[in-house]
Amino acid sequence: MSAVATELQPSPESLTCSLCGTSIDDAGYLPATDRGATYEPIADEAVCGTCGFNEVGMAGCAPAVDDVTDPGPDAVLLYVQRTDEGFEVVSVKR
Ligand SMILES: [Zn+2]
Repeated sequence: MSAVATELQPSPESLTCSLCGTSIDDAGYLPATDRGATYEPIADEAVCGTCGFNEVGMAGCAPAVDDVTDPGPDAVLLYVQRTDEGFEVVSVKR
């Protein structure tokens, strides 16, 4: 097993896009703080997949960390997918 964190702690039950205000019910971008074993989500700055791709990332590129949040030393941008229990981390960008 690798030591790469995949857990959100606390795990958000729902996320709302900070740009368009829609609830994220498929996939979206969630900035977070890397705590080593877990990610602490910055839920207020989540963006939905559509806004992330079209508004934040500029013309069809996935956004980078500093497009979404004020990047601290441990800031990461998670691509998350909605599951039955919450959100699953699909990929991590630093
Ligand atoms: Zn949106």
